[in-house]
Amino acid sequence: MRICIRRPPRKWALALAILLVVILAAGGCIWFLTDIRSDIGYGIWDRWLAPRSPVALTAAFLDQDDRQIYSLEEIRMGKVDGITYSHSLWLINQDYPLDTAADLELEAISDEELLFYKKGTQKLLEMLTAASAATGDRVYIMSTYRTQEEQEQLYKDDPVTAGKPGCSEHQAGLAADLYTYQHAGRRFIDSDGGRWIQENAWQYGFIIRYPYGKSGITGCIYEPWHVRYVGEPHAKILYNNRWTMEEYIQHLRSGQAYTADGYMILYQIPTDGTVSIPPELTEVTVSPDNTGGFIVTGRIPG
Ligand SMILES: [Zn+2]
Repeated sequence: MRICIRRPPRKWALALAILLVVILAAGGCIWFLTDIRSDIGYGIWDRWLAPRSPVALTAAFLDQDDRQIYSLEEIRMGKVDGITYSHSLWLINQDYPLDTAADLELEAISDEELLFYKKGTQKLLEMLTAASAATGDRVYIMSTYRTQEEQEQLYKDDPVTAGKPGCSEHQAGLAADLYTYQHAGRRFIDSDGGRWIQENAWQYGFIIRYPYGKSGITGCIYEPWHVRYVGEPHAKILYNNRWTMEEYIQHLRSGQAYTADGYMILYQIPTDGTVSIPPELTEVTVSPDNTGGFIVTGRIPG
């Protein structure tokens, strides 16, 4: 009579099987992230891994004597030489809807259909030309300014992606949705032109307003196609410090002046309709932030 004794499986065989499962699972995840949802794969890289050079926002201490007082109303009316009123730093989200009475200062980009904030139009066009020159991909504009009625219709059709009526940057003319041939929406970053925009828009004063991993702050999903004009040097500060507009405004303290990248930035919450500005600054702009504060930006001479 023969007795058959089955040997227990060898440990190395078990380890090999586990390793194989781990490799297959990791490969599956990478495939999922880079192919099915390439925006997630790119978003993770962009959010945590892509190299950035943080821009220091250094507190500067100024005496009241170092500043001159200006009326906000006179600045807004264009009556103060050397100081421009701008609304490029409006924070617009569900908590801070657009002021419907505000003058939007729109102009046509290329035809009557597309309107954009006039202080950002030139930079938008320069950015698209540069993207095309650098990558060979032509980057098109799908949408810029929208009326309340247009936003209401979009929100009815797609409440997940479209901003709530009254809370969309498109209604301020400050945002543009971009695409390349066969690469629209989240597929935008599959194109060379789309990736170029992610990494270079800041050089033209634009930010990716709804970055990956920040939806808890912005209230919006990752939208690689939606660029927002904020101007210089703010786009560089936001991009390199990985801040959203919400986070940037939270960093700014009322009454405080900062230096960053050759600029002085002052944050003030006026109670008497005036702002105080160091007179030696050049290329000064004053922008309300739509939360009650005003951001003064000026280049430091020399
Ligand atoms: Zn958009």
